[in-house]
Amino acid sequence: MILVLKKGITQDQKSNIRSMLFSEGYIVREMSEAGQNIIGAVGKGGKETDFFEQLPGVASVIPISTSFKLVSRQLHTEDTLVQVGDVVVGGERITIIAGPCAVESRDQALTIAREVRRYGAVLFRGGAFKPRTSPYSFQGLQEEGLKILAEVRKVTGLGVVTEITSPTQADMMMKYVDVVQVGARNMQNFELLKCVGRIGKPVVLKRGLASTIEEWLMSAEYILSEGNEKVILCERGIRTFEPYTRNTLDLSAIPVLKTLTHLPVIIDPSHATGIREKVSPMSRAAIAAGADGLMIEVHHDPDHALSDGPQSLYPKQFGQLTRDIYVIAPVVGKQLDFDYLDKAKAVDHLSKTNGTGVQRAAFLGEMGTFSHKACIQYFGTKMAAVPAPSFKAIFEAVKNGEVDFGVVPLENSLTGSIHENYDLLLEYDLKIVGEITLRIIHYLIGHPEARADTIRRVFSLPMVFQQCRQFLDRHESWELVPVKDTAGAVKEISESANPVDAAIASKEAAEMHGMVVIEEGIETNPRNYTRFVVIGIDQLEKGPRQKSSLIFSTGNQPGALYEVLKIFAENGVNLVKLESRPIHGKPWEYMFYVDLEADAESETFKPTFDLLEEKTDYLKILGSY
Ligand code: PEP
Ligand code: MN
Repeated sequence: MILVLKKGITQDQKSNIRSMLFSEGYIVREMSEAGQNIIGAVGKGGKETDFFEQLPGVASVIPISTSFKLVSRQLHTEDTLVQVGDVVVGGERITIIAGPCAVESRDQALTIAREVRRYGAVLFRGGAFKPRTSPYSFQGLQEEGLKILAEVRKVTGLGVVTEITSPTQADMMMKYVDVVQVGARNMQNFELLKCVGRIGKPVVLKRGLASTIEEWLMSAEYILSEGNEKVILCERGIRTFEPYTRNTLDLSAIPVLKTLTHLPVIIDPSHATGIREKVSPMSRAAIAAGADGLMIEVHHDPDHALSDGPQSLYPKQFGQLTRDIYVIAPVVGKQLDFDYLDKAKAVDHLSKTNGTGVQRAAFLGEMGTFSHKACIQYFGTKMAAVPAPSFKAIFEAVKNGEVDFGVVPLENSLTGSIHENYDLLLEYDLKIVGEITLRIIHYLIGHPEARADTIRRVFSLPMVFQQCRQFLDRHESWELVPVKDTAGAVKEISESANPVDAAIASKEAAEMHGMVVIEEGIETNPRNYTRFVVIGIDQLEKGPRQKSSLIFSTGNQPGALYEVLKIFAENGVNLVKLESRPIHGKPWEYMFYVDLEADAESETFKPTFDLLEEKTDYLKILGSY
């Protein structure tokens, strides 16, 4: 049951409620949901709900209607994020776990780990205790395999995931690995579930071969009821009558689970399909359906793999797949971050050197703007996001060291460049250290009682009005009121308390200010993406550098720009963007902004850079990231 507490509840009243619940044998979880203080109580105490409703300090008691309680979204409305070292499973970043079915040797594991890390995996998988159908099949290297996994972690920085098949392995698991996996065949091995609940390490809980979603969630409940909330659910296909694939991948489990539980959900397309060619299409579908991550078998020599070779991707195929996922993820509001681990290290390094242990990143406007979202998606939850009143204020704050980073939009796929930021990049001596692209979905937001035909004024950014042109043209009588940021618009209408006022902003901003969505997806073109860059004082020492941004100007003679572009062409440098901007105070003279796929500050780029210096009047590297 859920006990909703009264607003003015005293500490004494709260302690009294807690001790009453404990004495009745309940598992008690205290939390704050949507601004309300609640206590979740799970167990089978003898007293009726009426009894608790009458306790001083209790506003109401809501029974939990499902048979699983602690894993239920009723008890915990927000998504659970499972932290594994620097990696967070769940939330807005896609987690890719990859590696061989089984650890076969040190060389094999390290070779595959290096490959999968290069292509975007953030955790490494590999079985050391293999639950094989036949007792004559390879059973795994056992403790030797775990030692190899620990070495993989040390050498590559990837956290390691492996299957536990018996409670007797618990001590070894504690010693060598980061995440334990409960395999499909053990999903209802209740002693094992209690054991992984007690050891407290993050758990990947696979769905049983023939288990219903409810049975699966009850198994997760076993782990949570032992005090371990770090559970990641993994759908890996179920037994059906269909013989064309090894199992039938139940992708509909994703949206079902997302409503039933707060736990993160990942998909294992390898065991689900059993066939290499089927792994990538199902992976893409899983991400599109809202999965938080994937667990994929990869082998550099699958023909000689000791288990599950036919379903293992070659590293290159895996690389192609992660590139596809990179493109698909923003469509469903998520990110696959190729530089996740490097970035986490670089940021961690900074927090040690600045002595505060905390980083701050500034973004424009109120909490709930797209810039805020970009900030969270880029840095994860470790970073303190700091609202700033203007783009210039962000550049100033980074320059003065008040914040470590700034997150600013640079271009939108429909409305083009945000020139103010290009000009600020030229003016300030700061570095671009990263970039992130978000899909922008606009929502018409209003007061709970508002409807489209009662609205008279709409608040948002001028650029947003442009992006929603077709929708707004259908409502000619609306007065469009320009403001500085989208979330600020929602705040303004919530404060004005006038039901004729509406705003266009993100769904998150509506939730944050207690407003409701009147119409969803009102942007004219759904291919609406904004690219943000992250700025800092210095380049991230250990950060990734696959792309660079440069500014240059040329003399005013025929072929001057051609001469510069020729250098890129002749040195095999791929340009991904070229744009010109007028130079302030010099009418009809231009600065060129280019993005290229190379590390412009590297030794290998030096000869190209020297040639560029020769042919330009002005040249500045804005950053390599
Ligand atoms: C595995 O992940 O290697 C495995 C044996 O998976 P499952 O338990 O899903 O069959
Ligand atoms: Mn396998």
